[in-house]
Amino acid sequence: MTRRDKIIEILKERKEISVKELSKIFNVSEMTIYRDIRELEQEGEIKRKHGAILLNEKENTETLVVDTCPICDKPITRAYPYRITVEDYKVIEACCEHCGFLLHSKYEDKKVSAITYDFITENPISAINAWYVVGSSAVACCSPSVISFASKEDAEKFQKGFGGKVMDFMEAYNTIVNNMQISIKSCCHPQNITFNISEMKSNKDKTKT
Ligand SMILES: [Zn+2]
Ligand SMILES: [Zn+2]
Repeated sequence: MTRRDKIIEILKERKEISVKELSKIFNVSEMTIYRDIRELEQEGEIKRKHGAILLNEKENTETLVVDTCPICDKPITRAYPYRITVEDYKVIEACCEHCGFLLHSKYEDKKVSAITYDFITENPISAINAWYVVGSSAVACCSPSVISFASKEDAEKFQKGFGGKVMDFMEAYNTIVNNMQISIKSCCHPQNITFNISEMKSNKDKTKT
């Protein structure tokens, strides 16, 4: 029986459990448990709610309407998809950060804002300020996988366990969209979460010394 099977067994008995408890039960790091539950979540076996892990039974499912990703057509199974708002009115959701970046590429000339969710806390974070682990071995939605973190420290911790590379928004974006490993200094948008990728690209050229 795999650890993931055991997690399901535990959930059948207990209804809900926290990552902390699971990491104690299995004597593995919380990061390892997060990876298990992310996989189970993607397979539709479990769901996360207010920090607790629950079996994904019918009565736990709040919405029956399943949207599909505009990029890859996969059903959006994540509780909190990657969400882009274009020109303050058009809201589009993608299955994961990977497709989210590809979605951005269609709107490079537009003012957009984007919300992603911290892998650990599931708290919303402005995508432009998030840190990403790109190409880790953790099974994510689309490959190469992109996983978001609010703090660089958490991203680095995750990277130690599961490989990949820690990147800021523009690096991760370029890696996925242009398949380029170019390094762009993070842009100075600490408060204003609206951004324009075309402008960021040309600004970068201008500031180059
Ligand atoms: Zn997708
Ligand atoms: Zn995806």
